[in-house]
Amino acid sequence: MRKFKTESKKLLDLMINSIYTNKEIFLRELISNASDAEDKLYLKSLTDSSIKLDEDSLSIRVTPDKDARTLTISDNGTGMTADELEANLGTIAHSGSEEFKTANAEHQGDDVDIIGQFGVGFYSAFMVASKVRVVTRAAGEDVAHVWESDGLEGYTIEDGERDHCGTDVILTLKEDVEGTDGAEGERYSRYLEEWELKNLIKQYSNYVRHPIQMMVTKS
Ligand code: ADP
Ligand code: MG
Repeated sequence: MRKFKTESKKLLDLMINSIYTNKEIFLRELISNASDAEDKLYLKSLTDSSIKLDEDSLSIRVTPDKDARTLTISDNGTGMTADELEANLGTIAHSGSEEFKTANAEHQGDDVDIIGQFGVGFYSAFMVASKVRVVTRAAGEDVAHVWESDGLEGYTIEDGERDHCGTDVILTLKEDVEGTDGAEGERYSRYLEEWELKNLIKQYSNYVRHPIQMMVTKS
């Protein structure tokens, strides 16, 4: 187990304990990361002839699985090496979260509305997920890596497998009181419902230039 850096830990605490009502923005953040990764791969392919890219393959997949209680966001983008995983998901190094923290500090009290205005990034997944697993394979590498965390103290990175370069972000969703009752009476998260996911994608990710596919599992 590797520990999160102190500032990452603070943001994670905020995300996990958030009473923020627009938790749904996590999907916008994960889709925008997927889209960024595909843009990066496309740019790389322009100068690196070893990357053979079928531009049509640059799509984003959103897959709810009610049985497993998971929501997966997949891309065929640039992926991450083990070092990049450590650097990108173990620390907060990017501008979006910095802006967010600064703005949030100035708005003690009415903190809740400020969240949605900034790119809060990857960690927003922990507003809705009790566990996040990232399976990723970097362009040009043969091996894949798996990052996993419950968002509390730290994370693990292990070897894994993936057919092509790209990333799967697999969220194990928290119990959701807004969820609808499943056939066997279990509480499903609203983020496992096809119509809800479609609405959120339309509302927040309409501008994304790669196609977003909703994968439907028959139940
Ligand atoms: P930002 O997108 O503002 O940089 P995030 O917290 O959303 O911040 O993501 C942190 C970093 O993690 C990204 O900059 C990127 O390097 C990496 N990352 C996140 N998701 C993916 C992904 N699907 N594919 C490749 N890299 C990713
Ligand atoms: Mg981002």
